[in-house]
Amino acid sequence: MSTFQAPKGTYDLTPPRSATFLAVREAISAPLRDSGYGYIETPGFENVELFARGVGESTDIVTKEMYTLTTKGGSQLALRPEGTASVLRAALEANLHKAGNLPVKLWYSGSYYRYERPQSGRYRHFSQVGAEAIGSEDPALDAELIILADQAYRSLGLRQFRILLNSLGDKECRPVYREALQTFLRDLDLDEETRRRIEINPLRVLDDKRADVQKQLTDAPKLRDYLCDACKAYHEEVRALITAAGVVFEDDEKLVRGLDYYTRTTFEFVHDGLGSQSAVGGGGRYDGLSEMIGGPELPSVGWALGVDRTVLALEAEGVELDLPATTSVYAVPLGEEARRVLFGVVTELRRAGIAADFAFGGRGLKGAMKSANRSGARYTLVAGERDLAEGVVQLKDMESGEQTAVPLAEAAAELAKRLG
Ligand code: ATP
Ligand code: MG
Repeated sequence: MSTFQAPKGTYDLTPPRSATFLAVREAISAPLRDSGYGYIETPGFENVELFARGVGESTDIVTKEMYTLTTKGGSQLALRPEGTASVLRAALEANLHKAGNLPVKLWYSGSYYRYERPQSGRYRHFSQVGAEAIGSEDPALDAELIILADQAYRSLGLRQFRILLNSLGDKECRPVYREALQTFLRDLDLDEETRRRIEINPLRVLDDKRADVQKQLTDAPKLRDYLCDACKAYHEEVRALITAAGVVFEDDEKLVRGLDYYTRTTFEFVHDGLGSQSAVGGGGRYDGLSEMIGGPELPSVGWALGVDRTVLALEAEGVELDLPATTSVYAVPLGEEARRVLFGVVTELRRAGIAADFAFGGRGLKGAMKSANRSGARYTLVAGERDLAEGVVQLKDMESGEQTAVPLAEAAAELAKRLG
């Protein structure tokens, strides 16, 4: 193993590509920040019970994908595989739900960890931006979140994504369906592991990607036929609201998603340029999760969008984000005296809010000008002994190539004026 190699299933974000990641995080969170969502940050690890709840339906994430560890003090921790449980835990701990203004609307951005089989778009460390609206049962809230995710993707210039939508029912109708589905599935010709899955999380069997399994599922009972009237009405209202907003979606009654706590509204954003790792984001309503982790009844809804896959989707669509150059002025000193003087000018520019960089390391003119070019700076300041003797610096416009001598004392002001 080489010394300079990130662990399997992980990769580093380095310039210039890292700038795209920052821009994606910014673009996804912007609609949330403009819609009353407050920023929340939770630890990268939690007590393992928060995720492995030992009740209800188990998930691949909990049984196979979670990184767990025992601390020196003997505590069982898990690297967070997802954000929702942590955010809800933190909101309950801080009593945010008692402040009297429900829903509590929160957004987050961070690293998540899953022990998966690494492949393109599937990593062991990845990054999500998410949103949770806690403590309110209102179809407009589900609609709001879907509309905001759609807005976020569109603001990035993505077009080849689709929204899949389904309702998973609630604690009244879902168990009835679950049993009908189990009865149906038990009669099929399936392998041992899938048989076990029937007993633990039968809805997940519907999601099986294998053709021989899918063929047997044609006549499986449909959740839609089992939804209670309240769930049906709720779902119709969500559909009507996002339709009225002009957001196009597809009804997908096979959409069940990986987490066990979803109820009612469930959705996924898929991108058609990503091959098999096509989900760029997903979410839904989780009315029972608060009680599952020992809290009060707090019907909630949220989503998480994958930053890594969103960047891959941009690349697949050939979308180039309009990222402004980070440096406006690049200073190139020729000689010791010039180094001190121009370093002073750079400091002055920075304090005036102008992004400036400097040719460090006493490099020659040619190499330093190459760096100036690479920095994307609009202007270069060059000064040598003769310039200083005359009390000027050479100001070069990197777009027109035009160069003018500017009195040293006026250099910063002149640049501020030119950069508007
Ligand atoms: P998948 O079906 O692809 O495994 P998931 O249902 O496990 O996705 P979620 O738990 O809903 O995914 O997470 C939301 C988003 O986070 C996904 O849509 C995806 O963009 C991203 N994501 C999830 N797991 C990974 C991973 N291992 N590597 C990169 N991105 C991921
Ligand atoms: Mg997964």
